[in-house]
Amino acid sequence: MAQFAVNPSFISFAGGYPAADAFDFDGIRRASEKAWSQGAKDCLQYGATEGVAPLRAALKALGLARGIHAEDDQLMVTTGSQQALDFLLRATVAPGDTVLVERPTYPGALQAFRLAGARVVGIDGDAEGIDPQAVARAIEAAPSKPKMIYVVPTFANPTGATMSESRRRDLLALAAKHDILLVEDDPYGLLRFSGDAVAPIAAHAAKDAELRKVSVYLSTLSKVAVPALRIGWMVASSEVTRRCVMAKQVSDLCTSPWMQHIGAAYLDSPEFAAHVPRIIATYKERADAMVTALHQAFDKEWVFLVPDGGMFLWVKLPRGVDAGELLKAALAQKVVFVPGAACYASEPDAACLRMSYSTASPEVIREGVARLAHAYRSYCVG
Ligand code: PMP
Repeated sequence: MAQFAVNPSFISFAGGYPAADAFDFDGIRRASEKAWSQGAKDCLQYGATEGVAPLRAALKALGLARGIHAEDDQLMVTTGSQQALDFLLRATVAPGDTVLVERPTYPGALQAFRLAGARVVGIDGDAEGIDPQAVARAIEAAPSKPKMIYVVPTFANPTGATMSESRRRDLLALAAKHDILLVEDDPYGLLRFSGDAVAPIAAHAAKDAELRKVSVYLSTLSKVAVPALRIGWMVASSEVTRRCVMAKQVSDLCTSPWMQHIGAAYLDSPEFAAHVPRIIATYKERADAMVTALHQAFDKEWVFLVPDGGMFLWVKLPRGVDAGELLKAALAQKVVFVPGAACYASEPDAACLRMSYSTASPEVIREGVARLAHAYRSYCVG
């Protein structure tokens, strides 16, 4: 699908890419220059596996602003948050271990679980994310105690849904009761354009030593700055962090100190503070355009949750419609999306698809949805 997504004659709602036209080119350039002029040797030398000091300080401050506390031995910088997930699996999950996930969930996490040989059990989510009671039942039903619960609780990839405050607390308490790691993957949490803020699960965990033991928080600069920095980070118990640091030592010794110093300079700059509200406004405009266009084109036939933030919209098609088949008709109209099946560990729901509104302008979104409406009509007449 990537070949279609980059073909200029196609309109892509498929990628999970941030808006390149909204990148802060000047801010990132100035941060690069500052990092270089403040310490070119530090930029070019190896760095500590846990991450360089200025970036660690900036990430701690970013976390604290949202109630996430990290002692020195509880924070680790990674090469994107995808790498954090990989190390976490190497450090804590053996082949055959059970991992519980929301149904549907982020395909990149599913791939990592598969590669780790995990037994992935999906639990249906709804507009408020995963239901802790259903998780409790899955824990009871598992042949052995699950090792991990993985969630994207805020503006989820792929559904756009946000888990309610009460479910966050209940899920964390449940994980602590059974001593199961609760992994909160949070690339999109800062990208809220409507509704009230909900604290990260890791902020709830900050108040209690038992809760902190099981809480793992992952985030990234990919969606709030630029993916090319490849800066992610993890906040976890000192024991889990120590094991992940060992995994990173074996894997790549350290994340590029050069990129880390640029990341630190950017996070500390007024440009970053101005950039986040700007991209939130961009995504709001694009989400509004997509929601309106879909309502006009498909009325109530296509059902979706109106997102409060992030980059995704998850469509439930009428029963019996196969999103994979619909994609073929869409390709003929030069428009692409992700068929929902990619987001399920097993027993996929074929009548779902993921649309990303992050990269296209409102005009292009309207044109893309019009093409989709054509494709849908030709699919329906068969
Ligand atoms: N988790 C989720 C839910 C994502 O959507 C993504 C990126 N698409 C990642 C992790 C990985 O991001 P990165 O490695 O760029 O930090």
